[in-house]
Amino acid sequence: MGECGPLRIEGVDRRLLDFFQDLKKELPTAHITSGFRTKEEQTCLYKKMPPGMAAKPGTSSHESGRAIDIGGIDYTSKELRKTVTKVLGKHPDVLWGYYFKVSDPVHFYVPKTSPVWPAALILGSLGLFF
Ligand SMILES: [Zn+2]
Repeated sequence: MGECGPLRIEGVDRRLLDFFQDLKKELPTAHITSGFRTKEEQTCLYKKMPPGMAAKPGTSSHESGRAIDIGGIDYTSKELRKTVTKVLGKHPDVLWGYYFKVSDPVHFYVPKTSPVWPAALILGSLGLFF
């Protein structure tokens, strides 16, 4: 991540690190370029990047340790993407930013499980919601 802060692996979701270890067995040049980010670091990145290229501070999955960026490999290669897809197959909780509307191939993440929903369902069952 460079100027905005150090590479932080502590605080990254174990499932992402397990995925990375498996990926590295297939693609030894792969390395993590960004892991956990503080809100300050995300703010720095957001200001530095062209519009739309970095998530707004407070909204990035990196800020909750649910994302890593992986560099050192050529995502334009179809063969490579096949290998990535194969490894992802063994890690069903890990999703790939390659499929974002604005593709972000270096970005791998585990989706947030929202605590809002159980509360909404309880309120709904009491007729207080919806
Ligand atoms: Zn990312």
